[in-house]
Amino acid sequence: MLKSIPPTNRTLKGKTALITGSTSGIGLASAHVLAEQGINLVLHGLLSDDEGISLAQEFSKKYLIKAIFDNANLMDSNAISAFMNKAIKVMGSIDILINNAGIQHIEAVDTFPENKWNAIIAINLTAAFHTIQLALNGMKANSWGRIINIASVHGLVASKNKAAYCAAKHGIVGLTKVVALECAEYGITANAICPGWVDTPLINDQISDIAKTEKSSFEQAKYQLITAKQPLPEMMAPRQIGEFILFLCSDSARSITGSSLPMDGAWTAQ
Ligand code: NAD
Repeated sequence: MLKSIPPTNRTLKGKTALITGSTSGIGLASAHVLAEQGINLVLHGLLSDDEGISLAQEFSKKYLIKAIFDNANLMDSNAISAFMNKAIKVMGSIDILINNAGIQHIEAVDTFPENKWNAIIAINLTAAFHTIQLALNGMKANSWGRIINIASVHGLVASKNKAAYCAAKHGIVGLTKVVALECAEYGITANAICPGWVDTPLINDQISDIAKTEKSSFEQAKYQLITAKQPLPEMMAPRQIGEFILFLCSDSARSITGSSLPMDGAWTAQ
């Protein structure tokens, strides 16, 4: 007999979201989108304690939510455990887990430095394995959870000079599918969002490299980078990813699980 999952409370207000890498770019913009709905936040990223605490205070004051900050280095599994356990203790539970933190390094595979490979796999992939493992108990106990992994078009297709990034992003797409299968009967969904170009600091080095090689302006190089692979000739605003995350958290999205969802200006339609 089919087990029916009880309808969930339609409001997300009062739930807690933990967003890794929410001090910049997509994570920070998504934190604002969720906070606007009254969702409490665990903010995280590589800021000093003082900077992070003041960011959390800004969120609490502006949105009247509970917000805390942690700067655990995601390359360190012990630091991840301490971070997650503290967050669960202080907030009660993690209802929405957004694995977003990520780094990039561009170099051909034959000279790709091992330390960069290890860092990208640790931060962009292994950290999500740890956070998911540590968040699942509470989500299962509450019979509700949303796990959203920020992958990339590079979780679906490859580009030259991105060996570690593509390996990590393809890996997180696979991890997402397994978690979705294992958690479907608990009211927990797991999905990966696969963005094309998003206007954040992560891609500035790539733009600068093109500008240097082509002797062009930063803006010209940016346009060249976008249009090389993405038919839609514009970058996404980080907030657009946040709006999509919000939808995936809603009850309307309860049947979307195990999906790798491109948001890529038709990049992977080719
Ligand atoms: P960003 O550089 O603006 O933010 C990265 C965040 O990760 C920061 O908060 C940073 O502090 C945190 N971080 C980095 N290394 C860390 C570490 N060792 N420990 C803890 N935190 C660490 O980048 P973004 O563009 O907002 O990227 C967010 C996610 O989106 C990444 O996973 C990235 O791969 C993915 N993505 C970005 C784009 C794009 O075009 N910008 C496209 C597709 C996917």
